[in-house]
Amino acid sequence: MKKLILLILLGILILPIKAQHFDQYFMDQTLKLEYYHIGKKGEEKIEIHTFFKGGEWNGTRNQLLEPTRYGDMLIEVFDSISNTLIYSRSYSCLFGEYVATEKADTLEGKFEEVVLIPFPKNTIIYRFTSFNRKQIPTIIYSGSFNPKETQTLSYTKEYKVKKLHKGGDPKNCLDILFIPDGYSENDKQQMAYDMKKFASYIMECSPFSEHLDQININGIEAYSYESGITDPNANVYKNTVLNCSYNSLDLDRYLMCLNVFKMHNIAEDAPYDIIIIICNSPKYGGGGIYNFYCTVNNKGEYSDYVIVHELGHLLAGLGDEYYTSDVSVRDYYPEGIEPIEPNLTTLVAFEKKWKQQMDPETPIPTLDTKQYNKVLGVYQGGGYVAEGVYRPWQNCTMKEKLYNNFCPVCTKTILETIQYYSK
Ligand SMILES: [Zn+2]
Repeated sequence: MKKLILLILLGILILPIKAQHFDQYFMDQTLKLEYYHIGKKGEEKIEIHTFFKGGEWNGTRNQLLEPTRYGDMLIEVFDSISNTLIYSRSYSCLFGEYVATEKADTLEGKFEEVVLIPFPKNTIIYRFTSFNRKQIPTIIYSGSFNPKETQTLSYTKEYKVKKLHKGGDPKNCLDILFIPDGYSENDKQQMAYDMKKFASYIMECSPFSEHLDQININGIEAYSYESGITDPNANVYKNTVLNCSYNSLDLDRYLMCLNVFKMHNIAEDAPYDIIIIICNSPKYGGGGIYNFYCTVNNKGEYSDYVIVHELGHLLAGLGDEYYTSDVSVRDYYPEGIEPIEPNLTTLVAFEKKWKQQMDPETPIPTLDTKQYNKVLGVYQGGGYVAEGVYRPWQNCTMKEKLYNNFCPVCTKTILETIQYYSK
């Protein structure tokens, strides 16, 4: 145990891994670490569930240390012999949103989570760090994994995969995977129609539309026992493959999946970097969490907007630029702290945000008037609050129900993320 602590302390001091070192430390396979994230406000812990040996590694090979941290969680992997930091990845999770609700003041929550790591050749030390809304880090778990001794389960393939768009080799592309929920065998045609429709919504939206040679889209043909999606407020309960439900965190339109282990199990049948769950339901809803997963409902007038908006959260860590909502989280952007989301600022450290992209003549803050329509500025209101948080554009897709309308800041961040997966 003492040795472990020493290794972790040393790990902070050493130099990061160079890009060409993938083959030195990793095999061309994926290690999936399943765990439970448990706790309430001010308390959290991790319980490891299972290690899985997955298919080929389709993530980045040249940016093994993530260049930016947009998530509340950070997984870091160290080589146990040299203490070198050899892999890092940030992400957010439903637990992080749960602890900001009133319910979490007293009631403990338990959530499934999975992290994907390139499969190590030798023993690794891994650690989870959680950042609170004031961006203060706490190491909440450290462990080791020896690929030669630790029991590792394998998957069996069971689903057909539908190819929706092929840009190139999965190793050099952003791999988007659709998993359907709430489609019974009788909904086969609807499922095929929806997958095609949502793939086209992504492919026709800028900046995805200009980079289709760096994007692959596949869909898993997974059927549920029942047709439709659970909606507790309408007293509707369905037996579906992923058990998605409206009213997550007591928000009526917040549609999330609690079976994250199962989701990654199903996803194993196709190459994937990110997962989008398509829910068979006419009720408007969705949700998206950075490097976690996102959901959309298949019918309804805004579904083209919903998928690209939620993809903005999932893929690029973008924050919500709207401020009129029934979102139940409190103190999500504390005063005096710069948000980690690239498209929101409290002006505490604005030079790290889009200041360089702006015309120096544009006033800070910028008035939300016709004069500044389609001008990159600093507009009051964003991140669920009308004051104190600012956004870069008057009506970006991260604010309004407007399809294909990402602002220059969101566009730039999405492009950087596509490049990250393509290297
Ligand atoms: Zn934006």
